[in-house]
Parts: sequence; C-alpha cells; structure tokens
Amino acid sequence: MLARPFRRTEGKCGDDKSELMFVSIVYRIARVCQERSCAHARLENTRSGGEDSRWESISCNPICYTKVSYARKIFAGRRRIAREIEPKRRRGKTCMNTRDQIEETLKWKLEDIYATEALWEADYAAAQAQVAFFSSHAGKLAVSADALFAALCDDSSIWQLVERVYTYAHLHKDEDNGSAKYQGMTDRAMQLYVSAQAASSFLDPEILTIPEDTLLGWASEERFSRFRFRIADVDRRRAHTLSTEEERLLAMAQEPLSGADNIFTMLTDVDLDYGSIVNESGETVKLTHGSYNMFLVSPDRRVRKDAYETFYKAYRGMKNTLNATYATSVKGDVFQARAHRFAGALEAALHGNGVPVAVYEQLIEAVHEMLPVLKKYLGIRKRVLGVDQLEMYDLYVPITEDGDIDMPYESAKALVKEALKPLGAEYQQLLDKSYAEGWIDVYETPGKTSGAFCAETYGTHPYVLLNFQGKMDDAFTLGHELGHAMHSHYSATAQPFETSHYRILAAEVASTVNETLMTHHLLKGEADRVKRAYYITQFLESFRTTCFRQTMFAEFELKAHRMAESGEPLTVESLSQMYRALNELYYDGAHVDDNIAIEWMRIPHFYNAFYVYQYATGLCSAVKLADDILQGGAVERYINFLKSGGSDYPIEELKAAGVDLNKKESILASLRVFAQYVDELDALMQ
Ligand SMILES: [Zn+2]
Repeated sequence: MLARPFRRTEGKCGDDKSELMFVSIVYRIARVCQERSCAHARLENTRSGGEDSRWESISCNPICYTKVSYARKIFAGRRRIAREIEPKRRRGKTCMNTRDQIEETLKWKLEDIYATEALWEADYAAAQAQVAFFSSHAGKLAVSADALFAALCDDSSIWQLVERVYTYAHLHKDEDNGSAKYQGMTDRAMQLYVSAQAASSFLDPEILTIPEDTLLGWASEERFSRFRFRIADVDRRRAHTLSTEEERLLAMAQEPLSGADNIFTMLTDVDLDYGSIVNESGETVKLTHGSYNMFLVSPDRRVRKDAYETFYKAYRGMKNTLNATYATSVKGDVFQARAHRFAGALEAALHGNGVPVAVYEQLIEAVHEMLPVLKKYLGIRKRVLGVDQLEMYDLYVPITEDGDIDMPYESAKALVKEALKPLGAEYQQLLDKSYAEGWIDVYETPGKTSGAFCAETYGTHPYVLLNFQGKMDDAFTLGHELGHAMHSHYSATAQPFETSHYRILAAEVASTVNETLMTHHLLKGEADRVKRAYYITQFLESFRTTCFRQTMFAEFELKAHRMAESGEPLTVESLSQMYRALNELYYDGAHVDDNIAIEWMRIPHFYNAFYVYQYATGLCSAVKLADDILQGGAVERYINFLKSGGSDYPIEELKAAGVDLNKKESILASLRVFAQYVDELDALMQ
C-alpha cells in the first residue's frame, strides 16, 4: 500500500507544562508502528466519549492504522499515551457559542474538500469500485513493468480518494461528535479504508517476488519516478523477508506475541487500584493516572509525597506480574528480530525507518556528555524550592510564577507571525493565507473534538483544529499546529501524492521549530524578570522531559533487550537495579529512592520498544534548526526540508537541512542551547 494518508498530527493539550514537551510531543507525535508501511500514519483523535472519561479532557493522540491487525494494539497505545499526559485544566468555561454563532472567518472551510455531499458520495462510490477492481492485479505484478506500473497507479488513485473521503467525513464529525450523520459517514469511510487496506495488502509482498535486478531495472524507467523510493524501500526489506509460508506463520503469531501489551494495559488501566490520598483541601481523593500527574505539581509538598508514595505502592504490589509482563514483551521483540534475521531487537526496530544504530548510540552519548548541565538545572530547582534534598516528587512542581498571560486570538495570530518572520516572506504569506482562507477552526463549540491537531488531505490546504481559550499557551498551540500545516502544505505542493507524506521522525520537527522560534522571540523582547524566568523554565522543562528523560528511557530499553539477547534473566531485581543506576546517572543531584527504581514497571511506551528516542531526536533537531535559522543562512535548507515530504528517510532529509543525527555534534549543539538557558535561569533566580 502506498500512502496511508489521513495524517492528523497533533494534540497539544496540557496547559500544565510540567511533563511539558513530553506531553506535547508524546501527545502530538504520530504513533507509528515500526514497519515501513507506517510512513502512512493515519492519525486519530482520542476523545473517547464514555469509554473512559479519564481521557475525555485529553485531545487528540495520533494513532497509526497502517495495519488493521494492529488496530487493537494501537488503540491500547493511544490510551497509554494519554496516560502520560497531564489532564487538561478546564478553564472554567461555562458557556460557549454554537457553531452558527461563530464568525465564518473563524471556522475552517470543509467545502474546499467537497463543495457538496453529492461529490463526496460520488468519490466514495468511485473508491469502492476501484477497490473491488484492485484484486485483479494480484499474481500479475512480476509479469512485466507495465503490470507493476498499472497496479501502483491504481493503488495511488485508491488511496488519494480514500484520504479525501475519510478526512472530509471525519473533520465534519470533529465539529460535533454527536452528529449522527457525520458519525455514519465516518464509519462508512473507515469501512472503505479497511477494505482498501485488505485489497492492497498483497502488493508489497508480491513486489518482493520480482527478482531484484529486474525490479530495480523497471524502477529506473522514467515513468516509475514517483514510485522509486517506495520500490527501493520495499526492496531493502528483502534480506529480512522470509518465505511466504514462514511469513504466514509469523503473521499468525502476531496477536499472541503482542499479548504482554494487552495485559499491561488491562492491569494498569483497569484492574489496578491506586488507592487514595488526602488532597490540599483535606479531602480524601482516589488516585488515578490523571490525578497523580496533577498532584505532582501541587505546591503542597506533603500532597506530592503522598501521591508519589501511594502510587508506587500500587505498582510494587504487582511487581512480579509487571515484571513477567515486561520480560515477555522484551522476549517477543527479541524473537521477532531473530526470526527476521536482524542482529538484535534494536536493529530490527530501527530498520523500518532506515535509521542507523549509530543515531541511537550517538544520542545517548551526547546526552551523557551534557548531564552535568542537567545537574546544575536540578540544583537551581532544589535551591528555589528550598528543600534539603530534591526528591523525585519535587521534579514537576513549577518553580516560577505563572506567566501564562491572556492572549486574544488576534494577538496570538500577530505573535505567531512576528515570531516566525525569520522563516522568510513566503512563509509569512502562507500564514496570512492560513488565517484568511478557512484553514483554522478556532473556538470550542458543543461536541467539538477537544485539544488541537492538524489534518492534511492531498490537493487541499491543511486543516487545523483548535480550542482557543485566549492564553499564551494557546498561542503556542497555534504556532505548533501551523508548523504541521506548513510542513504539509510545502510537502503537498512540492511532491507527488506518493511521496508527500512525511514520516514520524520528521513529523514534530516543523511544529517544534515554530515553538522554539516563538520562545526565542518572546525572550528577545522581554525585560520582565518573572516572565523571562517563566518562558525559560518552560523551555528547560521541555528539554528535561523530552530529551533527557526520553533518552534515559531509550537507554533502559536498549539495556533490557541486550540483557535478554545475551541470556541474562530479566527479573524484578535485575531490571530495577539497572533502572536505579540509570536514574542515579541522569538525575545526579536528586534523591533516587526505591520507588523510582521501579518506575520502569509503569511506562507504557516500553511496550512499543525503541520508540521514545524519537522524541529526543525530534526536539534536538528542531532546536538546532531554529538556532541555525536565527543565525541566518539556514532558511532555504529548512524550507527544502519541509518540501521533501516523504521522498526520503527522515534521517537523510534532516541531514540535508543541516542536522546530521549520525553525529553527536547535532545533539550537542541543541543541548548547548539548553545549557545557555540554564545559566540565565541560574542568574535570574539568584
Ligand atoms: Zn505536533
């Protein structure tokens, strides 16, 4: 299958930034499976209605539908991502306008996708017919270049139609999730998607039956140019593809092999009772994932401590079960990697996105080098909090006054535009276009999907959903989403459909570049000490949680898998000892206690191994690019990066933009920005 379009990149929700960029990025970043095909991430929002009201306030988490058989796992993943996120603080809006009370200029224009629903129906029918016809290509691809070309063209045509049909229906549903009409249309579009997925599932495996020389010879013909990257990428999997019968057997084992993930989700989301604590007002309240995160930012240290200790007590009570579950997951990864002839689980996981192992290793090395700066930052935190010993439950509480100032929408638009001036005149014009031409759905209305996201559909401008509440944080959300929108716009205008969808590792770069430019801009013109400290702390927290913490996670995953690969037992003791040592290394300056030593038991992302490093590389790439842009001379290569879409592996696209993740220096350059701001905060907070 070629493009799995439906990109909805997003969901910045937490206005509480304590788990900050982790929140934003985790939450924003597209979930993607480790396979090649997930370049075509289809993202879905997480508003779960009655299923689990705990997540209701959390806006959209993207999920990848690339493989229908993964759907269940991915849905589980969606909930897990949500759980790491601070619940959105309701800003106490008691009334809101209905859609017809909102000015037309503040709503998106879905009629730019289909002017009438009759046209939607016509495309729906056309797609259905094409899907029905598609199976006639099966078994013929190897016959001739013409046969392969015809199948690839039909595949493209189907997915362009499905993307349009799906996006139109879903965005209408996002306007009001209670609409039976658009629920129905979305369901039909989803069925169409599933049938298209099933109909084209033979394509890649059959391409691999064509001898390599023949395949690459055909692909060198001019007419194949838009399919060339895809063909080369499929061909790259040859060495790790088994016989048809062996692959069939492994596919059958997929579900039981992903069982650990399901058990973890059931245990930690449903069965486990986290107990209760007494809150700041003296009321006894139940601990949940959401309330735990809120208590960790409580100014009352007793509340933070109680929440922390009570929460971990629940995990400790299930330590053997959680250990067995995680060990099973790791062993499953090792089995899959070995079955597909990879050197190890890490190598297998990185292969899909064409990421060299060196990228992973360099990230860890670079972060290690800068740990003394993190120690200095933790020292500032300890000093400002005035505590004798910085405990793990002291890491999230804000250390500055709240600088999340009021910001009406018009001012937010002006701020974003002004802050993004370094990106050049064309980018400025595109921002004007996005403001004026129905790209953005600004305000909250009854039934509207919460949070924020950006959706794209080839041939139409991108769409941004906001729930703008008039705070500085909302302005950052606008800038973030417009980063995605411009990435989509540039990709779609510069690339054919087949290579227009950028991959996960690149997905959060453009949005984070915009946020970083906004931070630099605000700081440039800000003399007020309190506001400066606030902006800087926000930025530093994003580094701590997105870069340092996720790299520590990445290192844990690597060590756990290497232990399994070398036959070392994965026990509560061995894993906790290893995780404790990592915390002592990364959080030097804080008190590493027995509770944090078992934190690995509660991290949902560990069931999607070797994924989280991308949060760190994404942030570092964006900060380095923003820095280069501000130094001058990097705009053109940055815009070219946006234009490159999915025409190459993200590592190569980033390299062309000036960020070579194969080299430690790229990560270090961004961490030096962190170091500069730590120094400034140190001076400000004296
Ligand atoms: Zn995003």
